Amino acid sequence: MPKMTNKCAVITGVTGQDGAYLSQLLLNKGYRVVGVARRSSHYGVSTHRLDWLGITKDVEIVDGDLLDLGGLSRIVRSARPDEVYNLAAQSFVKTSWDQPVLTSQATGVGAVNVLEAVRLEAPEARFYQASSSEMYGLIQEPIQSETTPFYPRSPYAAAKLFAHWMTVNYRESFGLHASSGILFNHESPLRGLEFVTRKVTDAVARIKLGLATELRMGNMDATRDWGHAKDYVRAMWLMLQQDKADDYVVATNRTVSVRAFVDAAFAHVGLDPEQYVSIDPAFLRPAEVEVLHGNADKAARALGWKPEITLEQMIGEMVEADLARWRDRA
Ligand code: NDP
Ligand code: GDP
Repeated sequence: MPKMTNKCAVITGVTGQDGAYLSQLLLNKGYRVVGVARRSSHYGVSTHRLDWLGITKDVEIVDGDLLDLGGLSRIVRSARPDEVYNLAAQSFVKTSWDQPVLTSQATGVGAVNVLEAVRLEAPEARFYQASSSEMYGLIQEPIQSETTPFYPRSPYAAAKLFAHWMTVNYRESFGLHASSGILFNHESPLRGLEFVTRKVTDAVARIKLGLATELRMGNMDATRDWGHAKDYVRAMWLMLQQDKADDYVVATNRTVSVRAFVDAAFAHVGLDPEQYVSIDPAFLRPAEVEVLHGNADKAARALGWKPEITLEQMIGEMVEADLARWRDRA
């Protein structure tokens, strides 16, 4: 039986990967979950990730946009949350070079709007900011921890760094219980198709089923410290259960190249990547983050957190989920 609580959480970015898994975690703990989703011209909200987890009807969806402080304030005033998780962002690094102003507004200033809404309407609520390992960018230490200097390499990373420091400032200036989770890349079957892991597992599934014949890639030499979103949302929740707010790196402490990820995904279905993969300069970036490798010792020590799902298990799960999706469509 899940432990019951009468707590309420507001989640921005509830339609995204992490929003879905975090909603599931909190619902299982008995939370009332209020999910903020932006309006589009299509009727209703895109709930495909919540649908996939079977929890759409359990989340209270409210209209709201990171760019609209008035709306966010009303949401926080009416929900009276115990916890607020700011997961919304323009989250794709490559797009941030094409939309640097929008990225600065949503990913950077948007976080300040949420912080302001909390400060004005629910200053006792605990706040989580979705910070990113991209802030380390041109890495200043081979393995990155909370004390490693930042060097953002994209408009996305610069906007996240602004939001990170504003979170620290709201904690230090206004006494908000505001924590920043510096999360390394985390993936799942619910990852957006534009991110490299899901792009690969989706292509592998289509190639295996005879629906595609090639996979065009960018920089295969980049390495990432990839974990599973389900493990990582648990770390978010643990941060807000601490007496004192703080900042934590969340990572697996293992870095693997894009090439090795591709090889493992093809191996899962018994195919040779050499026959299908080519390099397409369209997927290269104006500036690259070559290596990310996190040290999550502080999260282990202070939160008792450690990842439970291995990279190999996750790749298997993602490929199988994409195979099932394409078989269903056939
Ligand atoms: P997703 O891209 O899957 O989700 C982003 C969410 O933000 C979506 O719900 C999106 O809504 C929403 N959103 C975007 N712009 C706005 C806006 N102006 N107003 C309201 N909502 C908006 O990201 P993830 O779930 O993977 O990541 C969650 C957070 O963690 C993000 O902030 C991301 O930058 C950060 N992060 C993620 C990492 C990862 O590896 N996944 C690593 C480190 C940090 P819609 O569905 O309408 O587009
Ligand atoms: P990021 O770390 O947030 O930028 O996550 P991504 O999944 O978008 O990219 C991870 C790494 O994979 C980056 O170093 C990319 O340059 C690299 N990469 C190589 N080929 C591709 C590709 O085709 N698409 C994407 N998204 N990334 C790629």
